Amino acid sequence: MALPNPHGPEKKLKPLFLEGKAREEEIARAASLPKVYLTSKETSDILMLGMGAFTPLKGFMNKAEWQGCVFDLKLPDGTMWPMPVTVSITANELQAAGIKEGMEVALHDRASGELYATMLVEEIYQIDKEAECREVYKTLDAEGHPGVAKTMAQGEYNLGGPIKALNEGKYKDKYPKYYLYPEQSRKLFEEKGWSNVVAFQTRNPMHRSHEYLVKFALESGFVDGAFIHAIVGALKKGDIPGETRVKCYEVLIENYFPKEVIALGVYPMEMRYGGPREALLHAVFRQNFGCRYLIVGRDHAGVGDYYGPFDAQKIFDELWPGALELGPMKINWTFYCYKCESMASLMTCPHGKEDRVVVSGTQFRRAMQEGQELPKEFGRPEVLEILKEYYKTAEKVEIKKGAYEDITPEMLAKIKNQK
Ligand SMILES: [Zn+2]
Repeated sequence: MALPNPHGPEKKLKPLFLEGKAREEEIARAASLPKVYLTSKETSDILMLGMGAFTPLKGFMNKAEWQGCVFDLKLPDGTMWPMPVTVSITANELQAAGIKEGMEVALHDRASGELYATMLVEEIYQIDKEAECREVYKTLDAEGHPGVAKTMAQGEYNLGGPIKALNEGKYKDKYPKYYLYPEQSRKLFEEKGWSNVVAFQTRNPMHRSHEYLVKFALESGFVDGAFIHAIVGALKKGDIPGETRVKCYEVLIENYFPKEVIALGVYPMEMRYGGPREALLHAVFRQNFGCRYLIVGRDHAGVGDYYGPFDAQKIFDELWPGALELGPMKINWTFYCYKCESMASLMTCPHGKEDRVVVSGTQFRRAMQEGQELPKEFGRPEVLEILKEYYKTAEKVEIKKGAYEDITPEMLAKIKNQK
């Protein structure tokens, strides 16, 4: 059996990176184009587009694409697409740069100043940001939800049109073994003889419950390999950096998984914390990476209390036939239970809270920061050791419940000004 097709009507990967001479020429040409400066999320989207992870998108969405994806979960040609991939600009910047429809622009990362792509501006349009937040994030709470904050802080205009991606960013050098493009992961799976690969999305170190999710999938009989696929794009303050997490994944795989059934990869997207909608986005690009299943556990891609614990599983039931070639592998809340004497889930364990090992993210960070021991039923000692080392030197972040430190005062001021 072959791997599932890439997403979209053509069933073909659409990487947007230019190579060799074409790339050099485009970089030289870009120097004379008006510049548009990107947020870190927009820059990371260029990397996803460039490597073909966002196949079949050809660039940043135009208004019809934005509208279709926000309100109907589909692009104008009927392809399922759950979250906007857009680039914005303020009215002042638009005027200062003299950008008009039909012009080409150079897209630069705002933080580093580096050139990432050129773009043909087919359309300049305004969106109803609140409608986007209501539909996609199911909340308008810009002060609590990082995805809503980013949307509400966008400029007044979006630019839509195809891009030519020119910069592969720093990740390739940072993670040479694991920074795989969809074409490469597909090749890797084929070399391993896998055709039914399950993806495990992660933005945290993996503890026993995560390990169990992957092992459960491997035990299910539906898959022949598991792809641990970790997000390494910009994180919020207090999160554990990608380099540290990769070390954790390595020791976990080395000590607790047979090598023949497991692969590790990292990808450069920035989390949107969109819960159910983001679970669908995770599914779309995992299909592009060659996976047939995505593990969707409790509160997938969620944040705070904005989503019900299993909303991200239920949204897959709303899709129409043929929307995806990848299916969710839905798994309930998992933990170690002393009475069951094993890992279990709410589906399999009848016991009470007092019998289960459950450590919240907040409790975990506090234990690590204060050097407390955590039970081996919660995390593997090899993994916890790395994390303890990390927290010895890590900047101590004040842990506020429900507050997200990446919503900066500047962002809040911007949002307030627009009201
Ligand atoms: Zn039990």
